Amino acid sequence: MVYGLYPEKSGVYVKKAMMFLLMMVIIIVVIPLLIVRSCSSEKSIVPGGNSASGMNIKMYLHTDEKVVEMPMEEYIMGVVAAEMPASFESEALKAQAVAARTYAYGRLEKIYTPKNDTHHGANICTDPGHCQAWISKENAMKKWGIFNASKNWSKISKAVNETKELIIVYEDRVVNPVFHSNSGGRTENSEDVWEGGAVPYLRSVESSGEGLTPEFETTVNMKIKEFTAKLKTEYPQVKLNEKDVLKDIKILDKTEGGRVKSIKVGNVTIKGTDFRSLFSLKSANFKIEKHEKDSIIITTYGNGHGVGMSQWGANYMAKSGGNYEEILKYYYKDVEISKISN
Ligand SMILES: [Zn+2]
Repeated sequence: MVYGLYPEKSGVYVKKAMMFLLMMVIIIVVIPLLIVRSCSSEKSIVPGGNSASGMNIKMYLHTDEKVVEMPMEEYIMGVVAAEMPASFESEALKAQAVAARTYAYGRLEKIYTPKNDTHHGANICTDPGHCQAWISKENAMKKWGIFNASKNWSKISKAVNETKELIIVYEDRVVNPVFHSNSGGRTENSEDVWEGGAVPYLRSVESSGEGLTPEFETTVNMKIKEFTAKLKTEYPQVKLNEKDVLKDIKILDKTEGGRVKSIKVGNVTIKGTDFRSLFSLKSANFKIEKHEKDSIIITTYGNGHGVGMSQWGANYMAKSGGNYEEILKYYYKDVEISKISN
């Protein structure tokens, strides 16, 4: 019996040892493999991988002077990260994602016809003054810092994924969804800022809640001598009484959005938008006051051209309970949100 027990027991031991070995193989090899596989398949679905539309876009990196191709939805994440603070409300980020996608799709389909395309064979560039800004995931994470990087990126990815394929259309045509940082309280009619007639969906609307934001009001102090010298670079014929400069400056008329339409400075009349770019002002909504004996102070309201969606206004709408569709339909008149595949 005693002997008889041992072989039996040793058989049990061998079985147990084999079971143990098998378990260890499962724990050490198989489970980690499964985890890695499921993570990587998730990654390829979420950011970067083939987008729902399966579209790729060629982007000209204006700082690196090279063309990079990537899936559309991955590109949109980089635009949202570059164009809007990640701290903004999710619905505002979604509105930004749809606007960014609409513009990218418009470029891809050559809907906006630029007179001189300087994109080196790409569909779009990363120059915010020309197309829209873009930042790589890596650089965005660096910018946000270790405590916010993952949280911010997943917030932006979510906003892009939840609006996948959505674009803005007006009467079944893709719109040019221009946007700006802060309208200063009211957005602009397109024709008051750019040549080319009124665009039906780019109408002036009130934009609430911007007064409390850091982008709302900016002041610039300038010596009167510097002011005159700058004017002369563009208007050499200008004559200005430097002793009483304010008497020589008169705002002639304003736009519906409250910006300066034209201003008389000495003997020249200047368009508000030209005055803005000459003095690199944040907005054409400005007033000029005497500061000290030899200087003036220019106060601007808002930041940007003021046409289309105000980003700070969008954030305020989102904070007040508005969703991305309501935001977009507020800032772009009579538009619809549609799927690219439609
Ligand atoms: Zn461009």
